[in-house]
Amino acid sequence: MSFAQNDLGAFQYTALPGRVVFGFGTLAKVGDELASIGRKRAFVVSDPHHATGAAARVMEVLGEAGVHLSTDAVMHTPADVTERVLAKLKACDADCIVGLGGGSTTGLAKALALRTDLPQIVLPTTYAGSEATPVLGETRDGQKSTVRSMKVLPEVIIYDVELTCGLPPAISLVSGINAIAHAVEALYAKDANPVTSSLAEQGIAALGLALPLIVSNPADRNARANALFGAWLCGACLGTVGMSLHHKLCHVLGGTFGLPHAETHTVILPHAVAYNAAAAPVAIYRAARALGADAAAQALFDLAAANGAPTSLRELGMSSGDLDAAADAAVQSPYWNPRAVERHAIRKLLDDAFNGRRPV
Ligand code: NAD
Repeated sequence: MSFAQNDLGAFQYTALPGRVVFGFGTLAKVGDELASIGRKRAFVVSDPHHATGAAARVMEVLGEAGVHLSTDAVMHTPADVTERVLAKLKACDADCIVGLGGGSTTGLAKALALRTDLPQIVLPTTYAGSEATPVLGETRDGQKSTVRSMKVLPEVIIYDVELTCGLPPAISLVSGINAIAHAVEALYAKDANPVTSSLAEQGIAALGLALPLIVSNPADRNARANALFGAWLCGACLGTVGMSLHHKLCHVLGGTFGLPHAETHTVILPHAVAYNAAAAPVAIYRAARALGADAAAQALFDLAAANGAPTSLRELGMSSGDLDAAADAAVQSPYWNPRAVERHAIRKLLDDAFNGRRPV
């Protein structure tokens, strides 16, 4: 089977709106992009890491149009942080949200957009891919839930490859595998379609090639550009089709057990793929083909292991005593999945992931 020879049946596909500006040094265009959507007062959000660097540069470029900089973004978008930042936003009468950072910052920008319906311009600094989706994950009382709304889809994405050149190799790798996870699940989604699947294969292939190059030489600008391009494609996949078991497990492990987002995706993905392999053989074959491998689950495990990423939930600080509760939570209100989500099989999957066993 080639890219041009899909097994075509009936399908539905809804394209998402959004403007993308991609290149090196594109941060400098943030003022022009603000003007092009007819806005004059930008509320800028970021995280503490970027406070005195890139986020400050955005404020400099915006000049008077940058009305406030909040560097309060934290992992998993807790609702109480959003409410605090929202109060600041309302106080300065902003007419646009600008977000610079990883998925945590984009999450905060989206949570503000959901509550205000303001447009967003997002400058991603990791490969999480959230900027290309109308999905927001929020955490309230230890529960992470997702909302799908066009209000949270950013109007403009400015991809500045320069912003990713300093992303440490270890974070680059897990962040890139987080993006790959979006595309892999898109291949076997209930509403999979040939447009999204083509993007998924391209996204997986771009990241599969770029990530080992970045680990061995973080300054490889071409690999950085390809990884960011791949991250966009993978995010666009997540934006147009539904999520399945893999994302459900990661939402449970992140939202309820506080495990780090991208690392959790990295550990779980090979096991989720192995779980679904027999139920979605064509999709899993396409994922393997994109990775230039015979078997997707093993190739994804090896991509992580060979490049020094964590491969076990134990390494991420999970306690073995929490595995039963995690399995219970994963089977409660499960997302659609190509294979039935069964408690005993999920408990086994979590045991394999906890111990970092290579899928067979
Ligand atoms: P993150 O934004 O928390 O960033 C991880 C760490 O890397 C942080 O400490 C950050 O300061 C640092 N960092 C970011 N960019 C950097 C850079 N260029 N150089 C150096 N350090 C940098 O983590 P993430 O993995 O990007 O995003 C995770 C969050 O995104 C989660 O809350 C997840 O739910 C959300 N997410 C949402 C979607 C969606 O579609 N809704 C998709 C993917 C991820």
